[in-house]
Amino acid sequence: MTIKYIFVTGGVVSSVGKGVTTAAIGRLLKERGFTVAVQKLDPYINVDPGTMSPYQHGEVYVLNDGSETDLDLGHYERFVDINLSKVSTLTTGQVYAEVIAKERRGDYLGGTIQVIPQITDEIKRRVGMVPESTGAEIVLVEVGGTVGDIESLPFIEALRQIRSDVGRENVFYIHTTWLPHIGATNELKTKPTQHSVRELRSLGISPQMIIARADKTITPDLTEKIAKFCDVDRRGVVPVPTIDVMYEIPLLLERLGVADYIVDTLGLQARQQPDLAAWEAISRSAHKDKPTVRIALVGKYVELHDAYLSVKEALQHAGLALGVEVEIDWIHASEVEKGRGWDEIHAADGILVPGGFDSRGIEGKIAAAKYARENKVPYFGLCLGMQIMAIEFARNVLGYGEANSTEFDPASPYPVIDLMPDQRGIAEKGATMRLGVYPCQLEPGSVAAAAYGQPVIEERHRHRYEFNNTAREAFAEHGMRFSGTSPDDRLVEIIEVAGHPYMLGTQFHPEFLSRPTRPHPLFAAFVRAAAERAGAQVQLPAAVANSS
Ligand code: GLN
Repeated sequence: MTIKYIFVTGGVVSSVGKGVTTAAIGRLLKERGFTVAVQKLDPYINVDPGTMSPYQHGEVYVLNDGSETDLDLGHYERFVDINLSKVSTLTTGQVYAEVIAKERRGDYLGGTIQVIPQITDEIKRRVGMVPESTGAEIVLVEVGGTVGDIESLPFIEALRQIRSDVGRENVFYIHTTWLPHIGATNELKTKPTQHSVRELRSLGISPQMIIARADKTITPDLTEKIAKFCDVDRRGVVPVPTIDVMYEIPLLLERLGVADYIVDTLGLQARQQPDLAAWEAISRSAHKDKPTVRIALVGKYVELHDAYLSVKEALQHAGLALGVEVEIDWIHASEVEKGRGWDEIHAADGILVPGGFDSRGIEGKIAAAKYARENKVPYFGLCLGMQIMAIEFARNVLGYGEANSTEFDPASPYPVIDLMPDQRGIAEKGATMRLGVYPCQLEPGSVAAAAYGQPVIEERHRHRYEFNNTAREAFAEHGMRFSGTSPDDRLVEIIEVAGHPYMLGTQFHPEFLSRPTRPHPLFAAFVRAAAERAGAQVQLPAAVANSS
């Protein structure tokens, strides 16, 4: 089997939706009957984003195998509907760590180690591992950042070399650029695109497709101009204006003939007609007039919505399936502590506390959970949000005044959340949490079991702390249900407050398994409960098949 490679670079500026575009193209190829895998090359020197601040990087996306990755992998999984593994993520840090380890072992037999060939060879080896380990026929590889960044040069060089390694007929280069809008003359400019293509060419890569992004309509004369000046076929210039509904990108790219052009150029033959009915249904639902459901998201990095990207998307998936418009009010937990943000919390139909680390804003989150419990407002706690729910319950229902997590108060007399035993003694921060997919047994008759509609589920994790089992009995006596546990019953995975419309917390991160075409059952159940509070009619049963 000949493997085909599609390499996606970016030009002009970053953050123009390169990841979404790559993901959507992956979907369109999968729809034609090909097996597809996607890989992200991140030029930064960190080994992975697990130790980076969400302010720097947005959310840390976690895969089944526990890899802590760039949020673009979330786009790939959601659009293509595949589960990726660690071969789909590579950083400069990993490349150098491997090459230096080999050098120390003496593998290079006394040679001088240089960017070319040792570093580029390692990059190529890692790209080659994607089809090897996944069996994919088409591998899409996206390079982070923009062409011209110092850090990305070895990656670009490796992708250039792969063309001669595997044959040029097996490689397709896509360059994604941005057309700035000049207000004074009300026109879009192609010059930065021309420069960026020239820069890419100076590195030895001639793109076969240019995806031109802009905030305004891109008229045919502009695509014509880009084709002419950048020496790309007219079919290879793809105008993509900014659209409101991200999940319409596959439909837009299909209409523009993107996948057909790629398939033709790579000498492939589609094995089936693409069926985009599910995406059309999403598009219809997105444009329908729908009742609004307000969700207050009480978090720490709320200025940067990308820090909670998968949570935001999972809420949208649920809203689209249920036929309601989910509007998120982004509320800073530390502001809540100062008495601000309460108007939004009071107006909310549901309150969501997402994952997080360290003590900033913790008391604000606890106050929001207390309000949700006392006023029977649907509450959904994800990882830290579940721990917050336990702390609040301990303090205000059990009367454990200074209950806390030992993460925030190591001396708490009631450490209802405590460090996991196998985390003790771990000093290194990178990739040392409890990470990845683990099974969870559901308690029959619980809200969680009803939502999932199956007795055992698998979900993705990223945490060091857990519910302290010594407190289980006291909690249970006061109406807290432990509706999900590890199969050996040692670890609490899901808690819910009995007699509340929906007050549920998960130690795992359900947001990573939600798909636009298959919303996560717990998100669907939460949004449904919030919609009921808002008095809105919903269109689907809450039980949606578990997406794992
Ligand atoms: N800080 C908490 C822990 O480590 C929660 C982690 C999270 O929300 N991802 O257990």
